[in-house]
Amino acid sequence: MRVLLTGGSGFIGSHIALLLLEKGYDVLIIDSFVNSSPNAIKAIKNYLDDKNLNYNLKTINCDIRDKQLLGKIFIDSAKEFNPIQTVIHLAGLKSVSESFINPLLYWDVNVCGTENLLATMNENECYSIVFSSSATIYGLTDSIPITEDHKISPINPYGKTKVAIENMFYDLYRSNISSWKICSLRYFNPAGAHPSGFIGEDPVGIPNNLFPYITQVASGRRKFVNVFGDDWETNDGSGVRDYIHIMDLSEGHIRALDFLCSNKSCLEFVNLGSGKGYSVFQIISQFEQSTGSQIPFSIQSRRDGDLAKSYADISKAKNLLGWAPKRSLEQICLDGWKWQRKNPNGYT
Ligand code: NAD
Ligand code: UDP
Repeated sequence: MRVLLTGGSGFIGSHIALLLLEKGYDVLIIDSFVNSSPNAIKAIKNYLDDKNLNYNLKTINCDIRDKQLLGKIFIDSAKEFNPIQTVIHLAGLKSVSESFINPLLYWDVNVCGTENLLATMNENECYSIVFSSSATIYGLTDSIPITEDHKISPINPYGKTKVAIENMFYDLYRSNISSWKICSLRYFNPAGAHPSGFIGEDPVGIPNNLFPYITQVASGRRKFVNVFGDDWETNDGSGVRDYIHIMDLSEGHIRALDFLCSNKSCLEFVNLGSGKGYSVFQIISQFEQSTGSQIPFSIQSRRDGDLAKSYADISKAKNLLGWAPKRSLEQICLDGWKWQRKNPNGYT
């Protein structure tokens, strides 16, 4: 079965691509490489070649806002008697801080890009999509762990674009209830790397997220971790989040594909997280313990747009998709560190 994977060269996309290929799916990646390196695709191929695995992988440099090229990709696949049967859609911009500075770019890429993709799918009678939504759509909350029916109230433009896309799914599904199969996965905090160390997270510039920042401190690329606030209403004053191993998250996508394949028509919104919350200090200390590294830190004021606590109720993923995370926080630290040590400068 041919799967179109948008954003397949990025952090999450590269891990999903590798897993899909190992499982025998035919994968067509499209990416504009605006936030990733084509070397991620080379690394996927190196891993599979190393394992002597046969695979079907094609990559096309395409911006999801380019309607003409997107249409051609669907038509060419059909002409090759290998039509795109389903889409995993990850292409988009994801920096909360950048979305405050350049909201129109975020609406253009994330919302207009997705509208373009859905319209092209519709024209080519491809009605099955797994989407990368985010826990950021829940916004401020006192009700932890967060279930999917929690109120939707994003506090940043990035989160608002994810909500707009989920609303588009509602309308599309209702307009044509017999055709569309949609699973919107609301990720919490993906972290770690493939256990081989071939692929991992390689943020452009200074990492926004905690985990890649810590691994860069451990490797000596940065001096210390800035801890954004030690006065939150949490056990130790630092922010609490739900870190999920990137391979668990990737496996969630395979389960979502299986779920869509076995259903006639559906629209589901599903949390993907570990279901556990860890504070910044707990993460630093677990990383030190697991890897033997020293992680100096410096307390800073709270970061704009941050929350005290966020972690998922994952019962829906368990019941609906038959999925559960298998890897521990220690595994996240070990695998993230392995990737960083093997590739101190990322893919460059
Ligand atoms: P990433 O930036 O590593 O990957 C996104 C990929 O999309 C990149 O390869 C980028 O080059 C590509 N891209 C961006 N704009 C594009 C466009 N217009 N056309 C084609 N390709 C384009 O990010 P990621 O962490 O892998 O995230 C993937 C998706 O998951 C994003 O949609 C993000 O919003 C969502 N998500 C990520 C997180 C997280 O913490 N990483 C959490 C929740 C949701
Ligand atoms: N954080 C931090 N220093 C950093 C990056 C993040 O203290 O350099 C904190 C942040 O305030 C939050 C947690 O780590 O409490 C997770 O932040 P991240 O940006 O990784 O994820 P998100 O905020 O999107 O959940």
